Amino acid sequence: MSSTLDRSTTTRTLRRDVSAFLGRVGPLLIGGEWVGSVSGATLDTVDPSTGETLATVAAAEAADIDSAVAAARRALGGPWSRLLPAQRSTLIWRLADLLEANIEEFAELESLDQGKPRIAALTGDLPLAIGQLRYMAGWTDKITGDSLDLSVPYDPTARFHAYTKKEPVGVVGQIIPWNFPINMAAWKIAPALAAGCTVVLKPAEQTPLTALRLGELICEVGFPDGVVNIVPGYGETAGAAIARHPGVDKVAFTGSTEVGREILAAAQGNLKKVSLELGGKSPNVILADADLDAAIAGAATGIFFNKGEVCSAGSRVYAHDSVVAEVAKGMAEAAETLRIGDPLQDTTDLGPLVSTEQLHRVSTMVDEGVRAGAEALTGGGPIDGPGFYYSPTVLGDVAQNSDIVHNEIFGPVVTVQSFGDTAELAELANDSTYGLAAGVWTRDVSAAHEVAARMKAGTVWVNCYNVFSSGLPFGGYKQSGWGREQGAAALELYLETKSVCIQL
Ligand code: NAP
Ligand code: MG
Repeated sequence: MSSTLDRSTTTRTLRRDVSAFLGRVGPLLIGGEWVGSVSGATLDTVDPSTGETLATVAAAEAADIDSAVAAARRALGGPWSRLLPAQRSTLIWRLADLLEANIEEFAELESLDQGKPRIAALTGDLPLAIGQLRYMAGWTDKITGDSLDLSVPYDPTARFHAYTKKEPVGVVGQIIPWNFPINMAAWKIAPALAAGCTVVLKPAEQTPLTALRLGELICEVGFPDGVVNIVPGYGETAGAAIARHPGVDKVAFTGSTEVGREILAAAQGNLKKVSLELGGKSPNVILADADLDAAIAGAATGIFFNKGEVCSAGSRVYAHDSVVAEVAKGMAEAAETLRIGDPLQDTTDLGPLVSTEQLHRVSTMVDEGVRAGAEALTGGGPIDGPGFYYSPTVLGDVAQNSDIVHNEIFGPVVTVQSFGDTAELAELANDSTYGLAAGVWTRDVSAAHEVAARMKAGTVWVNCYNVFSSGLPFGGYKQSGWGREQGAAALELYLETKSVCIQL
């Protein structure tokens, strides 16, 4: 049996503020002005639940990125640099307040552009974005250096006053993906602004809308012109221009590991600082003593949340030999009870994938997995009709060395495998080029700590999954990335350390 799509409620009326925004959206935000792209290039963003175009926006190209970088450079040396930390904080906090005041509009816009349930955006993505802005607003006047006594071996009688000071790294290019558009925008700009940097932000081609609406709020709040520039465009043009730009001091990227490598290569020219939040193929492991109802429900949401378009998705489930049959059956049942449909409807659990390309990518990977011997316990294919819907899929009978176990699918697709003891579990779970996250389900506190210690992953969730909080660092081991988002660790990525040494 497979899940079915409920199309019974597809007539809908958009909010008035959303319709009004869709009517006026288009230009890029550069230097505090809304401008078209120099060449006139545009891109269409579509509603993935229908495949219809929602809006056409300017697509930045190299010349536009030059202007945006120049604006960010001017802003770095302008009034922004003379604001007191507390004044920077007030601006960031005000942006959070405005986002909160417009939360319903943003949730609907995000749902339309991305395909995620409106309710999920309203209760998850937006509160996280607002929380990140407020958390980072609190850091501006707590950025400190140290003072220290020196021991200069070749001048033992000299005395010095030495201190370190943190300074903004400068002009920052930020390139973000389509899975959590507003949240990624906030995760990126908040630490950069708290540190005193200026920003050129490129949203994903599939989901530029909430970043552009955020740009309007940034203007309304009164950030000095050019502090944040928002330049939708294609990765190969706008993204690549940011990554290689000699006027960009740092690039922060979230997306695929493959593009992460390209960013790194492009950054070589001026050796700009690079931070990367890349893909994952995260193991979610269920020990024999786990509370099985909670574990099965947690493993199901661990993969099906946001249609599996989550870098930390628990896409590999490993369950102990004694419970694996029950886990596989339970997860298939959980998949079949998901309500699939119009993401604007409050009853919808699972919306369409973000794009027809993503639908094709997910379908192809699952088809190849099944050809290689995997069995679809439920799902296993796209859902007919308009929109980019894919059935939530549970795959059994998978070989550890198969592609389906190693390659990131980025869709609602999970493999279920078994293990015998903790040593075997650690070997299977860590058998990945990725190391973003892991989950452990057990009632045994010692086992929880032991497995957590063995996981080569940047985050380990125990008896929970996909839990995020603005102070908790998030990022990858191995090929899942460089650096951390959230917490003080994220702020550090936007700061340089200057040592000042004064002979007395
Ligand atoms: P992607 O290509 O890595 O896109 C991420 C961002 O990088 C987008 O803004 C993209 O622009 C931009 N980009 C693409 N090529 C670039 C280049 N050469 N130089 C600079 N920037 C560039 O991801 P995708 O194609 O949208 O998705 C492909 C796969 O990536 C997914 O199936 C999934 O496995 C993975 N992914 C991971 C994450 C994550 O959070 N870790 C998020 C999204 C996707 P465009 O919008 O024009 O592509
Ligand atoms: Mg879209």
